[in-house]
Amino acid sequence: MLTANEIRSQFLDFFKSKGHEIVPSAPIVVKNDPTLLFTNAGMNQFKDFFLGNGTPSNTRIADTQKCLRVSGKHNDLEEVGVDTYHHTMFEMLGNWSFGDYFKKEAIEWSWELLTEVYKIPKDKLYVTVFQGDAAENLPMDEEAYNYWKQYVAEDRILMGNKKDNFWEMGDTGPCGPCSEIHVDCRTEEEKALVPGAKLVNADHPQVIEIWNNVFMQFNRQKDGSLVTLPAQHVDTGMGLERLVRVLQGKQSNYDTDLFTGTIAAIEQMTGKKYGYTDSKQDVAFRVLSDHIRAIGFTIADGQLPSNTGAGYVIRRILRRAVRYYYSYLDFKHPLLYKLMAVLAKQFEDVFPELHKQLDLVTKVVKEEEDAFLRTLEKGLRRMDTLMADKNTSGTVIGGEKAFELHDTYGFPIDLTVLIAGEKGYAVDQPGFEEELKKQKTRSRAATALDTHDWIVVRDAATVNFVGYTDLEAEGNVLKYRKV
Ligand code: ATP
Ligand code: MG
Ligand code: MG
Ligand code: MG
Repeated sequence: MLTANEIRSQFLDFFKSKGHEIVPSAPIVVKNDPTLLFTNAGMNQFKDFFLGNGTPSNTRIADTQKCLRVSGKHNDLEEVGVDTYHHTMFEMLGNWSFGDYFKKEAIEWSWELLTEVYKIPKDKLYVTVFQGDAAENLPMDEEAYNYWKQYVAEDRILMGNKKDNFWEMGDTGPCGPCSEIHVDCRTEEEKALVPGAKLVNADHPQVIEIWNNVFMQFNRQKDGSLVTLPAQHVDTGMGLERLVRVLQGKQSNYDTDLFTGTIAAIEQMTGKKYGYTDSKQDVAFRVLSDHIRAIGFTIADGQLPSNTGAGYVIRRILRRAVRYYYSYLDFKHPLLYKLMAVLAKQFEDVFPELHKQLDLVTKVVKEEEDAFLRTLEKGLRRMDTLMADKNTSGTVIGGEKAFELHDTYGFPIDLTVLIAGEKGYAVDQPGFEEELKKQKTRSRAATALDTHDWIVVRDAATVNFVGYTDLEAEGNVLKYRKV
């Protein structure tokens, strides 16, 4: 069985053999872009090349990129640990063409890699092609369809809509159709339950999207019209954890060697056993082995936990993890900090930054855990009292109470929502935000307001910098408003 390290190397070697330069992952924390807090896709670090604001060192590049999807357009936090293939932090393998090759080669090589190098059986793979959108004047991607047809049986080529199969950077700027590749890992028995059905991601837990190939073909103008780009680009992203799961023949990403080491370490520390079920305890194992990666790699990249912006996102993830071991593994002492060494060793050759910063990261995580554990118990008791209180209106925890939990007990709002939800209570989130707004002392910070991957700000004359506002729960938002 191939290890995750071998699988990653094979990807990079393959694209090297096709003339690609292999570059390092960019940091997970984005420091120079007011519209994005964390790297959420491989192409983030190449954004300027697509906008024509810079020239890459090579027209063909490939890498593995540390990504984090816990805020903005891509927020997978609620899925993590509950499903088997969404993580907070994950590695996105990618290959890029900057005005070099286009659909023909991208399609040919992705198929060659999956079926000849990785030897995934062809009858397990599906691909999707953009079906077009008449209302938006977007054509079907016939070109991609015709290339796929050379390799894939036509009944395995599915049509996809604008939401899934058309990528746009923002309201204006580069955009184009994409083709996704899905793997059907269902057993014959599972398939027999829905005979003939063509399933994609989200239709069945064992049918998963592994790779997205974006073909940047157009430039969306301010009036909405599309102009063909003079130089066309390819941008792809494949989730390493999902690929490894498929190649190692596992039912869950957490059963691959990317996670089994840390799960074993958690078993050893807590004296509990991971049981592969949907029980709270098993969800906790998955959540912990996921969250420690986000925590460790983000701090190693220079983002300390704090009360605002990116630092607050990390603090929230860390507190969420503490709460999981505290409540579901019945473990009342700091634990995450000890796992940093396990991770650092595992990723030493791929992302050496964690190994280099291990002492600092371990210390920071321990301090955070200590501090939060001190108030957690009191906060949980306070929540029990609130939920038992006859004055709590119905089954809703009011905004003021949620704010008290946030302010006095350090409960991030999503933690309050999570705990309340488990007892059948809702939380008045707009009310909570109102309370936050009132608390004017919070320092200024940026949180992405990203309904698209970016808000593209290129023409100062049409865009007005409105400044920091308090509109979002996570604090202040750096906002651009079109005028
Ligand atoms: P999904 O539909 O499963 O949420 P996506 O369409 O949002 O995935 P893309 O933006 O196309 O994902 O990213 C490219 C690839 O990155 C996906 O095909 C998948 O393999 C991987 N990926 C995306 N989100 C995650 C995640 N949260 N955890 C692990 N891998 C992910
Ligand atoms: Mg997604
Ligand atoms: Mg998808
Ligand atoms: Mg996708």
